Amino acid sequence: MANKLVDLVEGRERVAMEEIGAQADRAGKVLAKVRSVMLAPNVGKSAPKFTATQLGTLVNLNTSQIDYRVKKEGSDFPSGSLNAAGNRREFALSEVRQWCRGMRAQRMRPEGGEAIVISVANFKGGVAKTTTAVTLAQGLSIRGHKVLVVDCDPQGSLTTLFGILPDAEVEAEDTILPLCTGDEMSAEYAIRNTYWDGIDLIPATSALFSAEFTLPSRQKDAVNRKEEFQFWNVLHYGLETARQNYDVIIVDTPPSLSYVTINALMAADGIITPLPPNALDFASSVQFWNLFHDVAGSLSKQGKPKVYEFIDVLLSKVDSSDAATNVVREWIGAAYGAKVLPIEIPKTSTAATASAEFGSIYDLKAGTASSRTIKRAVDAYERLVETIEDQVVSAWARQVSDMESEQ
Ligand code: ADP
Ligand code: MG
Repeated sequence: MANKLVDLVEGRERVAMEEIGAQADRAGKVLAKVRSVMLAPNVGKSAPKFTATQLGTLVNLNTSQIDYRVKKEGSDFPSGSLNAAGNRREFALSEVRQWCRGMRAQRMRPEGGEAIVISVANFKGGVAKTTTAVTLAQGLSIRGHKVLVVDCDPQGSLTTLFGILPDAEVEAEDTILPLCTGDEMSAEYAIRNTYWDGIDLIPATSALFSAEFTLPSRQKDAVNRKEEFQFWNVLHYGLETARQNYDVIIVDTPPSLSYVTINALMAADGIITPLPPNALDFASSVQFWNLFHDVAGSLSKQGKPKVYEFIDVLLSKVDSSDAATNVVREWIGAAYGAKVLPIEIPKTSTAATASAEFGSIYDLKAGTASSRTIKRAVDAYERLVETIEDQVVSAWARQVSDMESEQ
């Protein structure tokens, strides 16, 4: 018996800190290589092109009506260009956006209106927060809106989906960290363009984690010095200028109740909580609302009470072949009632393929998956985008009516 124990101990290697460091280096190199292969031949991503039919669906015209508008005298609608094979007209993303702004004018941000801030949150990881944030940003920008996405997760998954490697290409001062430390008051310094026309990004990297120490210690210092400071409103104030310059601001959050997550929840006009219909995720969502209420509720008493324009529960990664799905879907309906969006995002290998290529379904090139599976996934997201756009448009209407009643 004793001998066996000795054998067991001798057979096992222990892991020292240096080995963990070396392992992190190796993994980092592998990731950099994978990314350069994925994005080859030109490192850097490119936005998709759109067919006339796709454009037509967005602006509610058929292809001959599009043709007519392009050729009409004095038309300032972009005409697209012939594809490489020379047999089909295609439109660049920037052209589609211009069409949408012209044809969907009643859905655009009204004069004097501010950006609607939407935080995608759930304390659980892997529920499709980041996927939802990116696809929503893409869908809204295709429809003509100017979108800012803010990556608040030190893991930087959202940043990665924009073709940027958090640890190699993002410094601490490029993230919202300087806001959290008080070195900056406005997040303007951190905004960068992306490969996607109409989406700008504030990236994240692992160094952002130190905000979890900075924010509470600033609060403590402020209390000691009897100064005014609200650790939970740092992002809200930091986005003040951006609210004038963008139509929608989408905030992706880490999978925990962190100081940064609280900032994202307090800066938001609307919250989307993706929730896969399975028992464990449902149970953890109950905790989410409890903790959110405890923390945000007590904070919002110290100032203007917080009111949200909308709170949505989005059934995500729905596997209809799983018998348990129907049961849990009923629990979710009973628990969250009208907050559950009337749209479900199906679990598809297409979505998984897209993320394996560091992109979303809007980035998938034809031929990567069957066009039918892509269409099924895209259709669900398109309906989500339209529903959220409805809520954004209503929120603007309220801003305008508030402005008028103040005058
Ligand atoms: P979170 O940000 O909540 O941690 P992610 O958006 O990173 O979640 O998604 C977690 C994983 O689930 C990723 O690998 C992603 O590709 C996958 N995923 C997201 N949506 C779907 C879907 N509709 N079908 C299949 N896989 C999905
Ligand atoms: Mg995420």
